[in-house]
Amino acid sequence: MLILGVETSCDETAAALVRDGRHIVSDVVASQIAVHSPYGGVVPELASRKHVENILPVINEALRAGGVALRHVDALAVTQGPGLIGALLVGLSAAKGLAYAMKKPLIAVNHLEGHMEAAFVNAQRPDEPLVCLVVSGGHTALYYVGADGTARCVGSTRDDAAGEAYDKVAKLLGLGYPGGVVIDRLAQNGNPSAFSFPKAHLEKGSLDFSFSGIKTAVAYFVKKHGLPSEGFTTPYRLEDLAASFQEAVVGVLVEKTMAAVERFQVRHVAVAGGVAANSRLRATLQEEAAYRRVNLYIPSIRYCTDNAVMIAMAGYRVWQRRGFARDPLQLDAVSRWLNGA
Ligand code: ATP
Ligand code: MG
Ligand code: FE
Repeated sequence: MLILGVETSCDETAAALVRDGRHIVSDVVASQIAVHSPYGGVVPELASRKHVENILPVINEALRAGGVALRHVDALAVTQGPGLIGALLVGLSAAKGLAYAMKKPLIAVNHLEGHMEAAFVNAQRPDEPLVCLVVSGGHTALYYVGADGTARCVGSTRDDAAGEAYDKVAKLLGLGYPGGVVIDRLAQNGNPSAFSFPKAHLEKGSLDFSFSGIKTAVAYFVKKHGLPSEGFTTPYRLEDLAASFQEAVVGVLVEKTMAAVERFQVRHVAVAGGVAANSRLRATLQEEAAYRRVNLYIPSIRYCTDNAVMIAMAGYRVWQRRGFARDPLQLDAVSRWLNGA
């Protein structure tokens, strides 16, 4: 079964071919970083326009690279949401158009279910139950996936997503966009215990997250001590600040994930989404998982951030789960999708 996946929920235009839900045939991502970086964040209208320009060339490239003609594709899987509405509509309309013209089934995919699926790109999918942390630019949530494969959200952020906190702090420090990877790199040469930033644990036993407090704490710190980039001779190293911020974010992510692993007594834990590319998060999770003797599933760096392979993979699962029934071509894009999966 050959599925063409299409993803345009944010600032990546992506298309990929995946066979039988696991064999990657081709994988194309056109990033818009250069378009948005002058603004320090994604500008929705510019993202939509760029998707319009890129969508057909990207789909064509995925077919060409896979050596496949569109008529040999069995179904189209496309991100329906959550994401930027104008951006989503571009991919969804393109997929609908192709599905209609070629009389192929359309499969609507939840972007977060896609991110989760990426955890199994390079691994054999384990039997449920499992716990999954989705930690990205717009979401931070823990899911318990039961033995029947249905996901239940058991904790989520009450304010900023972890990736959003990285991006906002990077902007505050004048490090540009996207910020996560820059902070990660700086932090590798910093002392994580140089400064103590507040970790929000919330009520006892809560699996929810909160990252806006730490962002504010960094803002106050910078207000007080200034920035090297503003010409100040600062009494601190930017590397230490980055490492200390990162320590607080990663610390809470790992603690709550492991608390969920213990609460639900699972033997498998998956972590996915853009922030799963973070080197400190990956290393700490590996240590904790080994210590608890649970299996950790984490995508290779390429499949942490947005891509269409994960959409094609998730599309296959969705399609299989409902006996290969197709979605109606009338369906609409959704900017918010409660509970994620
Ligand atoms: P969502 O999936 O919630 O709709 P999104 O698609 O914009 O949001 P992703 O593409 O999954 O998000 O991830 C992008 C986010 O990941 C950005 O916030 C970025 O800063 C963060 N990120 C990427 N690499 C790293 C890293 N090495 N360390 C920390 N954060 C990172
Ligand atoms: Mg992106
Ligand atoms: Fe994403």
